[in-house]
Amino acid sequence: MTPEELLALDAEHVWHPYAPMPGRVPPLLVSEAEGVRLRLADGRELVDGMSSWWSAIHGYRHPVLDAALAEQAGRMSHVMFGGLTHEPAITLAKTLVDLTPEGLRHVFLCDSGSVSVEVAVKMCLQYWRSQGRPGKRRLLTWCGGYHGDTFHPMSVCDPDGGMHALWRGVLPDQVFVPAPPAGFDAPADPSYVDEIEEAVARHADELAAVIVEPVVQGTGGMRFHSPAYLRVLREVTERHGVLLVFDEIATGFGRTGALFAAEHAGVTPDVLCLGKALTGGYLTMAAALCTAEVAHGISAGDLPVLAHGPTFMGNPLAAAVANASIGLLREGDWAADVRRIERGLREGLAPAARLPGVVDVRVLGAIGVVQLDHEVDMAKATRVVTEHGVWLRPFRDMIYCMPPYVTRNTDVAAITAAMVAAATVS
Ligand SMILES: *Cc1c(COP(=O)(O)O)cnc(C)c1O
Repeated sequence: MTPEELLALDAEHVWHPYAPMPGRVPPLLVSEAEGVRLRLADGRELVDGMSSWWSAIHGYRHPVLDAALAEQAGRMSHVMFGGLTHEPAITLAKTLVDLTPEGLRHVFLCDSGSVSVEVAVKMCLQYWRSQGRPGKRRLLTWCGGYHGDTFHPMSVCDPDGGMHALWRGVLPDQVFVPAPPAGFDAPADPSYVDEIEEAVARHADELAAVIVEPVVQGTGGMRFHSPAYLRVLREVTERHGVLLVFDEIATGFGRTGALFAAEHAGVTPDVLCLGKALTGGYLTMAAALCTAEVAHGISAGDLPVLAHGPTFMGNPLAAAVANASIGLLREGDWAADVRRIERGLREGLAPAARLPGVVDVRVLGAIGVVQLDHEVDMAKATRVVTEHGVWLRPFRDMIYCMPPYVTRNTDVAAITAAMVAAATVS
């Protein structure tokens, strides 16, 4: 089929994310991707500033990841995980326990980030049920978050951005505190700390858990906050008998400059969600890790099993490529790459701060954000960045990037130039 025929069929039948049907803006047709470049069907090449939504940290068609996948496909692509197990999943679980903050011991593998959040919530609710406290089933979070698109995760997304008004009466009613004050390096605001402590204390009897994205709130607004608030959450949840869940689906595997964002605060949550970069962007897989206390608490109850079991749980292909991706992180110097990209983003985005309509420019690790005082004209911004040979997906009032860690300095400069240009025309 010609590109035109394919795009006509796409418009006719294919529903794209966060889009009406039929879509308003035709998508770009990608035929191949290699390294940090997407090759379009019309021959153009674009530097991918998005890592396919935080996930392709080593770039596309990495020979080591390709080989791991081919090798595993030669043994078995999938077997059910009920009653059966296999080396790729066992190795992955052990590796995740070794790499994540001390104290997380048990790993539940599942299909996607949203499902891992569902599992994390289920673990927390079931933990309290097993303790004879079934009334503890609400969640507390701060505004500005994003935890996925299935229903329980939606209930803890930012109430405005998450369109809670649309789902009133459908979503469980959670407890919200204001968004954390902005700034990774900003000192903790004592009145905000009081506010969190007071809210957790007031709702402790009905709270199963506090759930937050540590350090970086991603899709909810690309905001950074001080790790000090995570230490406050750890302390206050412990004091009031509430579990703490960190959603590191976006921040995990080095993106913020630490292997896991929890490390910036030096705290261990009771439950940790991982996804996105887990497989280096090759296949969908996520994980919910928990402490021995959570696992044993559930297993000591009158319903001692965690009642969850996705068909493709522990998928061997995904586990094998995840092991290979983590291997690349362990053998390479991802931290130096992230620092190098951070410097390139700071330097390249600095001119954007002087543009009219730009309210903030911020960089943390391999994440760069230009925030405007108005909604980005997505069609116009997309045209400008692609003319600069770059792929970005601005949303709301933000033009942002999180490039693969293998992005060279010249390509980082192309990404920042495209962002500045987009901010100029938007
Ligand atoms: C992307 C994301 C999710 C949802 O993951 P999916 O794999 O898209 O279901 C959840 N939480 C955070 C922080 C995310 O960035």
